[in-house]
Amino acid sequence: MVAHLARSLAESDPEVMAIIVREEERQQNTLELIASENHVSLAVRTANASVFTNKYAEGYPGKRYYGGCVNMDAIENLARERAKKLFSAEHVNVQPHSGAQANTAVYMAVLQPQDTVLSLDLAHGGHLTHGLKVNFSGTMYRIVPYGVERDTEQVDMANVRRLALEHKPKLIICGASAYPRTIDFAAFAQIAKECGARLMADIAHIAGLIVAGLHPSSIPHADFTTTTTHKTLRGPRGGMIFCRAADAALIDKWIFPGTQGGPLMHTIAAKAVALGEALRPDFKQYQQQIVVNARALAESLRSRGYRLVSGGTDNHLMLVDLRNVHPDLTGKQAEGWLEAAGVIVNKNMIPFDERKPTQTSGLRLGTPALTTRGMKEPEMVRVADLLHRALAAGDDEAVRAKVSGEVRELCRQFPLPQA
Ligand SMILES: *Cc1c(COP(=O)(O)O)cnc(C)c1O
Repeated sequence: MVAHLARSLAESDPEVMAIIVREEERQQNTLELIASENHVSLAVRTANASVFTNKYAEGYPGKRYYGGCVNMDAIENLARERAKKLFSAEHVNVQPHSGAQANTAVYMAVLQPQDTVLSLDLAHGGHLTHGLKVNFSGTMYRIVPYGVERDTEQVDMANVRRLALEHKPKLIICGASAYPRTIDFAAFAQIAKECGARLMADIAHIAGLIVAGLHPSSIPHADFTTTTTHKTLRGPRGGMIFCRAADAALIDKWIFPGTQGGPLMHTIAAKAVALGEALRPDFKQYQQQIVVNARALAESLRSRGYRLVSGGTDNHLMLVDLRNVHPDLTGKQAEGWLEAAGVIVNKNMIPFDERKPTQTSGLRLGTPALTTRGMKEPEMVRVADLLHRALAAGDDEAVRAKVSGEVRELCRQFPLPQA
């Protein structure tokens, strides 16, 4: 089906097709170390490209505002059943267009404008929807940030508790975009109970690890669990919200009609496929290899002198502090140099960074995408070596060109899933 679609697109719009082909080649020939990205299966892509994109299905299964929704109901019910089984949850809403949309609906469900929210500081690994000043969350609500400690670079639950009791937030948010350590959902739940707050766990990054039992689950502890479907979960771009049966109607109401119109039914079909894949035993092995690979990559970088924030990683990602090895190199420059060598990363603030967010002193690296390609520990050692050489080259583009050739060769040995 995808081959047939590709033929028809090549005929009807060669200009767009040419750009898609170039992107396929870029993905095949570069090492994807962005911690929030992955390569989905051909099955997920096929569902995402299906005729479900043609259909309006405002409402929920059995309660639609449009006719002709019989197959819409079937696919959304299947996605819901698979998601509930996978996460052992009482209720799920599979309609959020993105992780940001999922979070928006939870805020609307439990907060009034100017209510207090306790969330992880963005500069310490939080997400923009957890209270960035220029995001709606930072505009609408009074944000009290908690951070990591200077010495451990980890969240100290005693400090979170102090802040919670002092500021009496209505909502506490745990979960992160750039935090390499395990999150103690049970401790957060205890604090939320003590100060009368509701708890939202945003597991966008670690959802796959949770499914595989490699990170404790937020579901038994948090009132609301939000996630994306496209990071470690390896589905299409999108979001989901889990909650208890008692909050089901409230959450559903704040997705539709509260904050969204028609659901992206083709994406929901692709979510159903990805959730089906995640229910299979080999998904657990995949997640285990992500974690093993992250440890191997972290160790290899440490042995080359790089300092890792908090000393290492428990999950799929790590934050590299560039300053020991390259005191004058910013994350921005490093990102550019690595891209020139075919190694794709993102610059990232390290806790207490003295550089601006547009420059940064660190990089965030993750292993979900490389693990999807079948890479294991030996390749992680290779990747650390390639990364280090591309940075140590400084202004010497000839060295970087040589690294780039080796990156291409490594990529050739590990093709994308059914590219
Ligand atoms: C990625 C991420 C999101 C948002 O996802 P989008 O789909 O890009 O809106 C939300 N929360 C956290 C913690 C994330 O890492």
